[in-house]
Amino acid sequence: MADKCTFCYHRVATGLLPACVEACPTQARIFGDLRSKASRLVRFTRMNRIHVLKPSLNTQPKVYYAQLDGEVR
Ligand code: SF4
Repeated sequence: MADKCTFCYHRVATGLLPACVEACPTQARIFGDLRSKASRLVRFTRMNRIHVLKPSLNTQPKVYYAQLDGEVR
């Protein structure tokens, strides 16, 4: 059974990173608060072209992707 991502609320609420962010050996995932101007996440979004999946659905997703090609979107 698959569960929907909760952004690891149980971990983040205690100051930990989401499990997948912490475990990723290539640090492919960045987690943070977009309102925190000094965060690594904000710097990354400024320096990369950021996309969401299926923007036409207007669901305002909170997971962003860098360097997607047209077929993934
Ligand atoms: S490990 Fe990652 S994908 Fe799974 S619930 Fe936590 S944040 Fe979501």
